[in-house]
Amino acid sequence: MATTCPKCGATAGTSAEECPQCGILFSKWQQRESNVASGDTARYAAIANATSSEFNWTILIIVATVVAAIFYFLNLDAPQ
Ligand SMILES: [Zn+2]
Repeated sequence: MATTCPKCGATAGTSAEECPQCGILFSKWQQRESNVASGDTARYAAIANATSSEFNWTILIIVATVVAAIFYFLNLDAPQ
C-alpha cells in the first residue's frame, strides 16, 4: 500500500518517510495535524499573545511596584 502525501497528494513508497515531491516529513505533518485538532495551535497563539508588548508592560509595572516596595521597607528598617 503506497503512502499518499497529505499535503500535495503525490504517491510515495510504502516505507517512505517523506514526500518525494514536496519533501514534507509524514510523521511531522501528522503531528502538526493532531496538534491542530487538539487545539494546541490556539494555546500557542494564546502564549504568543501573552508575550506581546502589552503583556511585557504589565510585567514591568508589577516588577517596578515590587522593587519600590522593597526599597520602601528597606528604608523603614534603616536607622534614622
Ligand atoms: Zn507532498
